[in-house]
Amino acid sequence: MSGTRTETRTETHCPYCSLQCGMRLAGRRAPEVSAWEEFPVNRGALCRKGWAAAGLYGGRERLTSPLVRDRGTGEWSAVSWDDALDRVAAGIRAAQAAGGPDAVAVFGGGGLTNEKAYALGKLARVALGTSQIDYNGRWCMSSAASAAIRAFGLDRGLPFPLADVEETDVLVLVGSNLAETMPPAARHLDRLRERGGTVVVVDPRRTPTADRADLHLQPVPGTDLALALGVLHLLVAAGAVDASYLAERTTGWEEVRDSVASWWPERVERVTGVDAHEVRALAALMSGRKVMVLTARGAEQHSTGSDTVLAWINVALALGMVGRPGAGYGCLTGQGNGQGGREHGQKADQLPGYRRIDDPAARAHVAGVWGVDPDTLPGPGRSAYELLDALGTPDGPSALLVMGSNIVVSAPRATHVTARLEALDLLVVCDVVMSETAALADVVLPVTQWAEETGTMTNLEGRVVLRQRAITPPAGVRSDLEVVAGLAERLGSQASFPTDPEEVFAELGRASAGGPADYSSITYDRIRDEQGVFWGGKRLFADSFAHPDGRARMHAVEHRGAAEQPCADYPVHLTTGRVLAQYQSGAQTRRVRSLPDDGPFVELHPFLAARLGVATGEAVRIATRRGEMTARASVVPTIRPDTVFVPFHWVGANRLTNDALDPASRMPEFKVCAARLSPVEEV
Ligand code: SF4
Repeated sequence: MSGTRTETRTETHCPYCSLQCGMRLAGRRAPEVSAWEEFPVNRGALCRKGWAAAGLYGGRERLTSPLVRDRGTGEWSAVSWDDALDRVAAGIRAAQAAGGPDAVAVFGGGGLTNEKAYALGKLARVALGTSQIDYNGRWCMSSAASAAIRAFGLDRGLPFPLADVEETDVLVLVGSNLAETMPPAARHLDRLRERGGTVVVVDPRRTPTADRADLHLQPVPGTDLALALGVLHLLVAAGAVDASYLAERTTGWEEVRDSVASWWPERVERVTGVDAHEVRALAALMSGRKVMVLTARGAEQHSTGSDTVLAWINVALALGMVGRPGAGYGCLTGQGNGQGGREHGQKADQLPGYRRIDDPAARAHVAGVWGVDPDTLPGPGRSAYELLDALGTPDGPSALLVMGSNIVVSAPRATHVTARLEALDLLVVCDVVMSETAALADVVLPVTQWAEETGTMTNLEGRVVLRQRAITPPAGVRSDLEVVAGLAERLGSQASFPTDPEEVFAELGRASAGGPADYSSITYDRIRDEQGVFWGGKRLFADSFAHPDGRARMHAVEHRGAAEQPCADYPVHLTTGRVLAQYQSGAQTRRVRSLPDDGPFVELHPFLAARLGVATGEAVRIATRRGEMTARASVVPTIRPDTVFVPFHWVGANRLTNDALDPASRMPEFKVCAARLSPVEEV
């Protein structure tokens, strides 16, 4: 049986990304990581971060007592849990007495377990009565989620197991650097190529993933949509589309076909910077072969992200690929629980089971499980960035509870967001260390992490896995579920808030029953026995899509370009992303001593470096219309000469990024804005 705890080893999963690699842990206070070869997703392979995960323990920065900050002196004082929770409850009551239920907001995270995400959503809707809840997963894959719901009627990042990658003929990765962000997944690329398949990578940088590709297209950041339009134009011209599939399984094809009529390769070249012959080469590769298109943040984190994903979905549908074995479309989710985190109620517009909060039947069902009147449940609230932007304003929340997010580093236009956090009357942060966001708080609540607690995660394939407690938490910390229950009790909530994860999961299953993401048949025992359980089944869309008529909906979309284009003052494109040794805001990995902390740095092409007169290792100032930072130059020929790249794991990158939002997903445009670089003079 898998997933069992023995005296010496606990089978569990990595604390980081959406692959949720299986691993074994031993030890009582600090875990020792070893391979779990039988777990099918990674077969014992781990990336550098996974092998170093034990380094999350033993550091002196771990918080073990609730802390309150004196706003006058800035001094922190340790207080008891009762005192801390009483203060938080009093602050919440004061905020709501003055400003109504929505004066209090909640901000969650895509790394929280399903149980925590569910409990946080219930806390907001039932105990606080606020509509103001959203989470940092809005900034991860929300554009792909929005597009999948529109196209297929259902969003499950990969509607098939990741290993299906090996079965396709042509794999097109748009804006994914999986060889660096989730290296064990890259083995599928190698196996695909060994059996004669072709890998295509679309990325402005020649990444480690692009190094494994047969064809690498390097578009201007923010132009992936135009590339998709051009590819579909060529597929139509070549007669490569699957007419019977389109007639039987889709709607909207004629409008889509007409919308790509003017996207000749030469026009695509002018917009994207990709040579017309390379566009033709991609279309030729896809004609008459089994094709799989996978998008990730590079395609999605744009003000046009939803339409960009829809454009690539159109390509997959036009070829008749979606629902075919070893083919189709999928999104490579990023955060550890990027999938489950968006299914169980911490999104502004959603109830558990991926139900819409404005659907009367969904409200009645969930309210029944919670034992409350559906009319008392609030409606949809603000999206993540819009919520933060409203903090401390006359119409916005004056108190905020943060769980599982380091907003100061990960939010776009971070200087502005930091100012909004500072304008609050009450900021409460649950965390394991004094993160950059916790440092601004009035109350910091120290919570358990990863190997100290049990809970489920849903990986990028929709496979629900079980993280099992393997070690004893330090004295003085509580689980997030206990924090939620403690606050709900102090606020006088009549609803029950269990603190046992398995009990919460069973309730989540009842609340999700009948919804798009239905977990009602999944139990901890099944997860252990089956090495993870796919919700909805292993492969989706084989016979029908989730719209009432069973057909996929194709949407004609237009190229709009990035919200901010280079100009005389800000002449280069700036794009952001990730590196192998760090994870998200770096709050965890920057504290793991065995992982290199070599940031912040900026990648720039030798042509640009020569114009600026800077060499590798020298300091460069990077400025945009929203802020500036200093970073160490890394001069590389692998990036477009008109583009620079800054990883966002360190403070600074998101001071630069643009808060322009996608109209459908409310995704900020993390992936491109206009920037100016200048050398930093020695002093
Ligand atoms: Fe962990 Fe992701 Fe690395 Fe696997 S690939 S070990 S899940 S960070």
